[in-house]
Amino acid sequence: MRIGIIGTGVAGSLLAEALLEAPGVQVAAYERVAAGEHAEAGTGLNIGPNALKALRLHMPARHAALRAASLEWRRWFVDLTDGTRLFDLNLATVAEEPGLRIRWSELYRLLRAPAADRTRHGHALEALEEDAAGRLVPVFRTADGVVRDGAFDLLVGADGRYSRLRALTCGEPPSTLLGVCIWRLLVTDAADCPYDDYGQWFHGNARLLSFRVPGGAVYIAGTFPLPDGDRIPEGMKTAEAQRALYSPKNGPPCPAVAWMLDRIEAQLADIHWARSATAPLLRHDPSGRALFLGDAAQAMVPTLGQGATQAVECGVVAAHVLRRGGTIAEVARLRDERVEFVRQFSLEASDTLIPGVDVVEGTKRKMEADFLAKLRKTYTEVE
Ligand SMILES: Cc1cc2nc3c(=O)[nH]c(=O)nc-3n(C[C@H](O)[C@H](O)[C@H](O)COP(=O)(O)OP(=O)(O)OC[C@H]3O[C@@H](n4cnc5c(N)ncnc54)[C@H](O)[C@@H]3O)c2cc1C
Repeated sequence: MRIGIIGTGVAGSLLAEALLEAPGVQVAAYERVAAGEHAEAGTGLNIGPNALKALRLHMPARHAALRAASLEWRRWFVDLTDGTRLFDLNLATVAEEPGLRIRWSELYRLLRAPAADRTRHGHALEALEEDAAGRLVPVFRTADGVVRDGAFDLLVGADGRYSRLRALTCGEPPSTLLGVCIWRLLVTDAADCPYDDYGQWFHGNARLLSFRVPGGAVYIAGTFPLPDGDRIPEGMKTAEAQRALYSPKNGPPCPAVAWMLDRIEAQLADIHWARSATAPLLRHDPSGRALFLGDAAQAMVPTLGQGATQAVECGVVAAHVLRRGGTIAEVARLRDERVEFVRQFSLEASDTLIPGVDVVEGTKRKMEADFLAKLRKTYTEVE
């Protein structure tokens, strides 16, 4: 069976590695970016304990490599920007092992390395054709022009949120905006940062989220409601506007927030601005010749840090099924119910980002049994 993987981000890299030696499988991977180009555009991220469990059970070498290049994620606290504590969770109470904190560039470098020899870089999927047997033939745009590399029994779309394979086989998915801006920044010179593990700081429904990542760096993500729901006003992209968003009304910000506000001002030009959006879950095309994994299948809001985490689960589970000659229907059966649960839970957990929701009450609900049971299910019920 000839399997072609489009995109070697999180899900695609793991699948490519696991299929390298699979009996009866010939795998080829195609990646839009050049070899060795692991841009810091994604800055940093936290990966949930459930992804680590999936890797520990099925791909222990990758588990060990990621652990060695990351910091453990053991704690989640929520404060107001004046320092009032609302929530403090030890992840050990809802998970079987810690999550991790890592730089994007490092994550991609470690995941892409094992299948590097089987990956054609600088190949961006552009179009699809069919051979006489009805197999899909991907057409790539490269620096040297248009390239074809034969026909495939199965093409796997692991090409992210704006999946070209999904668009070509099933049409552009509708995107639903949450009505919030989410920006991210990597502070690389952060020796004086006054905190370590994963924290969130609210002022009204605007929220800062931050934690240390390896190499003396700190990841900061800001979230705030968009006044007209879908456009990020240019006026919000200034240091003054950001300072006003996150500063408490009656008194100074706590030391952690004061530190972040200064870093935002110093590195405003480095901030990546985006909008939080979801697309409907779709696992494969109607003909069964294209399978979608990770964001290509299931773009979700990043509130619980489950986007890349679920992409890890997708890569691991799809590899497990395809290695033993299983079908894409089996991948769907193992993944879709769980993915829908996590997507819905991530949306529910986004309540405090939406105007009109009381942040103190909404955050306190996250210490109640119902929320913690869903978090435990998310972190532990892994195939
Ligand atoms: C602001 C923000 C913060 C986030 N924080 C977190 C977090 O803390 N934790 C977490 O778990 N998730 C987080 N996410 C979500 C996470 O980024 C994604 O869910 C995750 O990267 C999806 O992995 P993937 O393998 O599906 O796709 P990606 O990792 O996006 O990989 C897709 C790959 O396909 C390649 N590609 C794209 N188009 C083509 C093409 N036409 N041809 C060939 N190759 C192509 C790309 O170059 C890339 O290598 C966050 C997202 C955002 C926007």
